[in-house]
Amino acid sequence: MQLNDLGRQAAPPVPRGRLAPSPTGALHLGNARTFLLAWLSIRSRGGSLVLRVEDLDHPKVKPGAAEQAIEDLRWLGLDWDEGPDCGGPFAPYVQTSRTALYKAALETLRDAGRVYPCVCSRHDVEQAQSAPHRSRFRSLGYEGKCRGRFRSWRDACAALPPGRAPVWRFRSEPGETAFTDVFAGLHAQDNAVLGDFAIARDEHGAGYQLACVVDDAAMRITEVVRGDDLMEATHAQLALQRALSLPSPAYFHVPLVVAPDGHRLAKRHGDTRLCALRACGVAPELVCGLLAWWSGMAGFGEKIAPRDLLQRYEMSKIPHRAAVLDEKAWQYLKVDPKITENPGVPA
Ligand code: GLU
Repeated sequence: MQLNDLGRQAAPPVPRGRLAPSPTGALHLGNARTFLLAWLSIRSRGGSLVLRVEDLDHPKVKPGAAEQAIEDLRWLGLDWDEGPDCGGPFAPYVQTSRTALYKAALETLRDAGRVYPCVCSRHDVEQAQSAPHRSRFRSLGYEGKCRGRFRSWRDACAALPPGRAPVWRFRSEPGETAFTDVFAGLHAQDNAVLGDFAIARDEHGAGYQLACVVDDAAMRITEVVRGDDLMEATHAQLALQRALSLPSPAYFHVPLVVAPDGHRLAKRHGDTRLCALRACGVAPELVCGLLAWWSGMAGFGEKIAPRDLLQRYEMSKIPHRAAVLDEKAWQYLKVDPKITENPGVPA
């Protein structure tokens, strides 16, 4: 399919969602909760699910992690209608096999004058910042020093020492972007927060933001459920959708699972990899029960499979605060957080 056809497709007859793991490490309880909610939201309305492997982040992708993610999600009791393991009408479902589509999108943006090559290093950009950035994508609010500076990618390369490469940056427009998140409500952000964000690190490549936008349109996704650490990324994706005349799915950002200190889950908070819990003999229904308890849909200690949660699912039950992996949560699983010397994919 041509990129410029994507904006003109009729809406799919049923809601379509996606599970989009990045194989940069093993899935943990936080990922699992988000995927369970994405699954419930779509399946409770009789919709279709796609599993898409987001493996563009080359240096961080771990061998075997995509296969492990598929195995872990199936173990938990989730399923999907299309994916790398079962095919489907929008195959392939692995981003590194879809680069021709991203290249076409990049060319469209380049021809429209919406991207430019930039030679500033992360350090340069950080130096120009007044405040540190906490977002996962560290978009850094780049102010456009390289706008209009180079006539071509090649010119930008020539301005750099050997071993360094430019990035393509998307030219943000002044103003504010707002969207109504299905769960979190209205979210508005000054476009300067993102600034001219990077969308590709090589001449014909694509990073997460561009690939995600292209794939969500190409796979006719109508609802994106993901962690609220990606709220800011959504503003970047909305801007790209507008520039490429692509439809925008509904967005549903759910709070993350955090450690008692409020930080994102990390190894020091215990081994929460699904493969590790499974290796310790924890039943998938117990893991699902914990995820459902965190989400206001199960009593403490309950064992339940995702399909049995379908009749209980209501978005309004999900708490708006982060779920906490505290001692009580560990008691739910009846395992010691320090468990597991497990040979699975590392976290
Ligand atoms: N692949 C991303 C992740 O694992 C998710 C991106 C998305 O849902 O848009 O964090």
